[in-house]
Amino acid sequence: MQSAPKAVLIGRSNVGKSSLFNKMIEEQKSLVSHIAGTTRDRFEADCIWRGKIIRMVDTGGLDIDQTDEIEKNVVEQANIAITQADIILFLVDVNVGPMADDLEIARKLLKSGKPVIAVGNKADNGELRRRAESDEWKSWPLNRPFAISAKQGVGVGDLLDEVTEVLTKAGKPPTDVNEILPMRICVLGEPNVGKSTLLNAVLGQKRFITAPVPHTTREPNDALFEHEGQTYQFIDTAGVRKQAARRKSGTLLEKIGVDKTLDTVSRADVALFVLDMTKEISTQERHLAGVLQDSKVSVIIIANKWDLIPNKTTTTVNDYEAIIRGFMPQLKYAPILFTSALTGQRAQDIFKMISAVFQARFTQLSTDEARQFMSKAIVRHKPMRGKGVKSPKITSFYQSHINPPIFTLAVNLSRTDSLATAYVRFLENILREQYDFTGTPIRIKIEVERKSHTTYK
Ligand code: GDP
Repeated sequence: MQSAPKAVLIGRSNVGKSSLFNKMIEEQKSLVSHIAGTTRDRFEADCIWRGKIIRMVDTGGLDIDQTDEIEKNVVEQANIAITQADIILFLVDVNVGPMADDLEIARKLLKSGKPVIAVGNKADNGELRRRAESDEWKSWPLNRPFAISAKQGVGVGDLLDEVTEVLTKAGKPPTDVNEILPMRICVLGEPNVGKSTLLNAVLGQKRFITAPVPHTTREPNDALFEHEGQTYQFIDTAGVRKQAARRKSGTLLEKIGVDKTLDTVSRADVALFVLDMTKEISTQERHLAGVLQDSKVSVIIIANKWDLIPNKTTTTVNDYEAIIRGFMPQLKYAPILFTSALTGQRAQDIFKMISAVFQARFTQLSTDEARQFMSKAIVRHKPMRGKGVKSPKITSFYQSHINPPIFTLAVNLSRTDSLATAYVRFLENILREQYDFTGTPIRIKIEVERKSHTTYK
């Protein structure tokens, strides 16, 4: 398993190192809190940005001799950053311009050869943002300060994009989440559809991991193994095998219970929903589709026993896909893989699909992107009212979570208005059109604001 590249924040005291660190991490806190073992302390934490991990270090927390004069303190931070960092974020204050200390450090950093981005903090308004471009930075040896406002969160997403780009160019790209976090997978479906056969086909030849793996909470019935350098954790595999032994007595949900299904699903990132293509889709399966749609888990539909379908032509897959979509419209976002667990046909393709679907859970729109997305959406379709007289006004739209993605849509409604659910569905559809959310549920939370703000219309 790889470790993520390190970005070290340095700068004179009071330039806003901790504010920036907290802003970058704060946005992640809700995002990753349930990922077991994701480490964070006051001064060091994994920052997940667009499905990639960067380890952030705030030198404010490093054990530097506090009795030294301040100037020495920054020099010390710089030394530490030069030895430890894969990239250095050097914070300056755009309000005061480059100070003598800043210049000295800038030259030192430049000489070190480490990738450096100068960040101009406290650019809280347009005028201050322009100051980062002004002549006072003419003799500045690094890049013109990248203007941000840590306090307001403005420019922080763009900065993280820049950090990603510079690290990538330097040959130290941020680590994909699936290279560090195990993908937790559960296998669901009616009795006899081929779940345990599929598990055997998929896990059969694999080397299981028995040593403790970071970022995992592993239960006795989980199977943990590596495949092409990535870690997969199959949840409750014994449960699946047991079901096979007890088959022919009732349907899946009756037998193992809705609670147990929900419990398994809640521990997983990706569910493999196995169907038997020789059978009609049952009421129970449609019910399970609804349960999955309302959960946080991503879904891949495994259309199994494909070998038993006779006289297949080039259009057979499309015909069967149409049938599945027709019976399970709730899971329209789930990719379908046609397999034969018995012959092993396409069984190994499951890994690639799991990785792609897992990665899509981390698709992330920056604040600016979400804002632009919404402005364009409104041009295509004005928000529709559910009931009431006035057309609702959208006051803000942003992505509040990843893994799985959640968006917050703030609307200014009069007491009797509501935003039509059709409009929320429209937003979800165009989000899926424009960004990769394959297999993942998308939530759009409506927040009602009574006060009036800047609006999009
Ligand atoms: P589970 O109850 O979902 O775990 O189902 P099993 O894996 O026990 O499979 C039920 C039966 O279907 C067994 O007889 C398997 O050999 C058979 N089976 C499973 N997958 C396939 C498949 O892809 N093709 C064919 N022809 N038979 C399969």
